[in-house]
Amino acid sequence: MTDLQNAVLCCIERERLEFEWLEVRTRGQYVRRLRRLSRAEQAEWDRREQEALRRLADYDPEHRCNG
Ligand SMILES: [Zn+2]
Repeated sequence: MTDLQNAVLCCIERERLEFEWLEVRTRGQYVRRLRRLSRAEQAEWDRREQEALRRLADYDPEHRCNG
């Protein structure tokens, strides 16, 4: 595999993780606006958001190209 192909795959993976995080965050904000969430539901959304953000942060050290 060429460096260029590696770079493209690397960037697609990072973009996917970033998209997942943004999506879970947006959905969490949306459901909070729709109705009052229980404490457990709020904690669940917070947990999902933190988890997505952690996956993104974990990936960053492996992301060696500038895409
Ligand atoms: Zn990349």
